[in-house]
Amino acid sequence: MSSLQAEIERRGTRIFELVDRHPESIFSKAGFYQRMMEFSMRDEHFKVQMFRFVDVLASLRRGPDIVQHLDEYFAEMRDGFAPLVQTGVHLARIVPWVSGKILRWNVSGMARQFIAGRNPAEVMKTLRKRRKQGIGFTVDLLGEAVVSEEEAEEYAARCFELLDVLAAETRGWTDPLGGVSELFPVVNLSVKISALYSQMNPADPADAIAHLAPRLRPILRRAKELGAFINFDMESYAHKNTTLELFRTLFMEAEFRDWPHAGIVVQAYLRDAEKDLRDLIAWGRSRGTRFTVRLVKGAYWDYEKIKSKQNGWTIPVWLQKPESDANFEKLTRILLEHEPIVTSAFGSHNVRSIAYAQALADQLGIDRSRFEFQLLYGMAGPVKRALVEMGYRVREYCPVGELLPGMSYLVRRLLENTSNEGFLRAKFSENMSAETLLRDPRELVRASGNGAVARPHQQTYQRNGASIDQSLRDTYENAPLVNFVYRESQEKMRGALREVRTRLGQKYPITIGGRKIWTDKLMPSLNPSQPDEIVGYVAEAGIPEADLALKAAHDAFETWNRTPFEERCQLLERVSAILDRRRFELSAVEVFEVGKPWAEADGDIREAMDFCRFYAHQMRLIGRPRLTQHVPGEESYQHYWPRGVALVIAPWNFPMAILCGMVTAALVTGNTVIMKPAEPSAILGALLMEVFEEAGVPPGVLNFLPGHGSVIGAHLVDHPDIEMIAFTGSREVGLRIWESAGKTRPGQHELKRVVCEMGGKNPVIVDSDADLDETIVDTIYSAFGYQGQKCSACSRLIVLAENYDRVMERLIAAAASLRVGNPEEPGITVGPVVDETAYRRIQEVIERGKEEATLAFQGKDFPSTGYFIPPTIFTDVKPEMTLSQCEIFGPVLSVLKARDLDEAIAIANDTDYALTAGFFSRSPANIERAKAELVAGNVYVNRSCTGAVVGRHPFGGFKMSGGGTKAGGTDYLLNFLVPRVVTENIMRHGFAPEETPPYRDEFGLKVP
Ligand SMILES: Cc1cc2nc3c(=O)[nH]c(=O)nc-3n(C[C@H](O)[C@H](O)[C@H](O)COP(=O)(O)OP(=O)(O)OC[C@H]3O[C@@H](n4cnc5c(N)ncnc54)[C@H](O)[C@@H]3O)c2cc1C
Repeated sequence: MSSLQAEIERRGTRIFELVDRHPESIFSKAGFYQRMMEFSMRDEHFKVQMFRFVDVLASLRRGPDIVQHLDEYFAEMRDGFAPLVQTGVHLARIVPWVSGKILRWNVSGMARQFIAGRNPAEVMKTLRKRRKQGIGFTVDLLGEAVVSEEEAEEYAARCFELLDVLAAETRGWTDPLGGVSELFPVVNLSVKISALYSQMNPADPADAIAHLAPRLRPILRRAKELGAFINFDMESYAHKNTTLELFRTLFMEAEFRDWPHAGIVVQAYLRDAEKDLRDLIAWGRSRGTRFTVRLVKGAYWDYEKIKSKQNGWTIPVWLQKPESDANFEKLTRILLEHEPIVTSAFGSHNVRSIAYAQALADQLGIDRSRFEFQLLYGMAGPVKRALVEMGYRVREYCPVGELLPGMSYLVRRLLENTSNEGFLRAKFSENMSAETLLRDPRELVRASGNGAVARPHQQTYQRNGASIDQSLRDTYENAPLVNFVYRESQEKMRGALREVRTRLGQKYPITIGGRKIWTDKLMPSLNPSQPDEIVGYVAEAGIPEADLALKAAHDAFETWNRTPFEERCQLLERVSAILDRRRFELSAVEVFEVGKPWAEADGDIREAMDFCRFYAHQMRLIGRPRLTQHVPGEESYQHYWPRGVALVIAPWNFPMAILCGMVTAALVTGNTVIMKPAEPSAILGALLMEVFEEAGVPPGVLNFLPGHGSVIGAHLVDHPDIEMIAFTGSREVGLRIWESAGKTRPGQHELKRVVCEMGGKNPVIVDSDADLDETIVDTIYSAFGYQGQKCSACSRLIVLAENYDRVMERLIAAAASLRVGNPEEPGITVGPVVDETAYRRIQEVIERGKEEATLAFQGKDFPSTGYFIPPTIFTDVKPEMTLSQCEIFGPVLSVLKARDLDEAIAIANDTDYALTAGFFSRSPANIERAKAELVAGNVYVNRSCTGAVVGRHPFGGFKMSGGGTKAGGTDYLLNFLVPRVVTENIMRHGFAPEETPPYRDEFGLKVP
């Protein structure tokens, strides 16, 4: 055993001896909180329900509501092991007012366990008590989710005020170790950066810093005057780089450069923590003034893992707990070895982590007055006491604030205390031995790859369907989104924008039968942010070209339809690979051509790639003839034939994804295609053609036919030689196509199949107990993301009367905070609408809206050139009004007030459309009702109603929203196929083979 390990064990054992003199009371079995903790650790389902109940409780105002929620959350458990809950529910039924109050009181008690006071006066009481125990403080203002600049201003003002109160009330206080410490001022404030700016966008750190710095400077100035310390807390990974950059920027300014009382958090659970720490130290050296690092493991482990898995990102955290522990120790060493420039604050409750820091500091000869230990309020009390007894400086992290904003903090603490992996549970609940708890974490990292974890592509592995027992063939992986958190991604995007700008104005031909064709007309495509800028030109196809394309597609069908499906699948996979290679360039074109903000543009390219991969995967599942039934003496195989020539007519709002989705579905199933892009996104259509050509699509199999829908579209739709039409677009055109395709014309041999996806008038209902932080952010995104120009966008917000005023106050403030502008800038949320026609139409709707309802909000800050329409909100909207019934396809949100959930659902369902619908609620019963009753093809609960992911959220509606097909779903390809069954009697003179294979090769490919 190394001498360091021996010293760690010696110190750890000593801490445990001191700890065991006063065991942790929150892990004892008495009391409401303790019982809840005990149940939560025994039963995962109870834990989930309990934490969800705690989460909603603070927002419930009336006793009967509390009782109803209690009943709903624990209904299934009443006969089980939780007599406490059973009693609660019984009592609640009899005297709801009393029991509601009791429950609220109990949960408030739980919150009080972790929240040091509701306001500065209350927190002072706690701080005075701690002072007597020899414990210092850092105070943190709760209230993390700011949705508007108004709320961010409020947070900044509260920080300012808190500093003053703390300084005044602690005058004359000394350092916990006695005297005045030059390193550790008494007053210490922890600040959450995201609470100071509502529009933080990971892609745009410069914008965040430009807004955060002016809010922080007065706080820092005041702290400096008062001799206080300011710490920047670290939040989710999305904000990490910005927080680091902000710290370095501000503290390099002349005013603060020589101020040593600034600190920042480094999270050891991050794989890039070591690099960040080394960069910080190098920065500190160049600055020439000491600063502090609070080293922690990190509070968002589950969140980071879930978020990354959802988006296909490399998971930024270590996946094994001992990896985080070992990294904590590695970073402890780096910190202590650089003591002359950086002061260490070790934020941990783990005795091994603490003992390591103590032992190493000793070995390096660093006096204990030169660093400190920080622990959270309400956690690990005995450890704090032990450290004080051992003569170390201890600082307690004391959150202050009301219960409601404190809920997410409380739930994080409950999770931490009950975590299977956590030290506190292991020590205080499971009574693990000191020896086990003090083991070297490096020895505990599971051998599987020396601490290495699954590679990114394995982490993003997705399986379709509900059961993991499905056959391995049924797997498909979504392409990852670009993570704009990384500077490298930001730079690639900026580079692509620069590069694409140099070739704006290029001309693109029609492609028919592999030939490039120019006509005497060129159609310009304009940049909606700057309409005098021409993104490019496409040759305009007329009727002669349409007929040529049809002939080419027919000729090519003969071979393509007999090409093995595996070859067609591989074509799609090559297309996906090329899209990936050209990803940033294509995203940049989307920014210029259709005004998509960065992340939206990237999402569109990702979706196009997903369609390629998903449909290739689906085709492999259905491509081989499949035995219908095992019956002796006969074999019947069902398989599919393509329909013929497919006309694909696509919209401009998902210029790559939808176009590519419809084209790939048609091609992989063996049809040949005439691809007509929407006029405003014709350049992107031309680029998709280029991608297919590079991937090796044979001549005539895919033909690119840009032109006017009213001319070539109408001509081809009516043409007897078109076998199928895949259309996504407006209701007006969709219905015309549907009708026209239903007519059989002279010379027509097939009944035309139409895949028709149209618009929506999508409702989102806000229940009276909804989590408003989440509701506002998601609703704003659903309504105004990509300027409301998604068919899935929220256009009707239906708010229950009880919550109406609060929702509207926050919603309007949030809308007013949105960044409207040219989406070439990375942090823009609302760009221009697509073209002048859209601009005029939406303006007209707004003018008419003003006559029938109240214009409650319209943004004022937006560029004067370009087709910009700022976020617009109407209130006093009634269900029968035009604003409620007609699709607008722009950044206009109509708000309706509903008496109760019955009325809200009735309003939601009262339109011609049925595309998406959203519901925000924390009532399990109401959620179940919404799931059952909302009339929409895609129902989203407690999340935005846009952003469907291929394979995960098969997308499409019914009623006047479409024909009930689901793009990105398992049955979509069947629309492009005709089923066929071939039956053969295989009995000869009473003899037949015993076994008939379940699948066979495609008919006609191999002649025996
Ligand atoms: C004073 C103080 C301030 C803090 N400030 C911040 C802050 O600003 N930002 C922040 O993010 N955190 C912060 N934290 C940390 C956080 O809130 C947790 O308290 C801390 O991570 C718990 O670690 P521990 O060493 O006490 O306990 P331990 O039980 O030893 O460690 C638990 C931690 O290990 C990590 N972990 C859990 N499971 C795994 C796994 N499977 N693989 C890898 N790692 C895993 C997680 O980080 C988890 O929190 C702070 C903590 C303290 C004490």
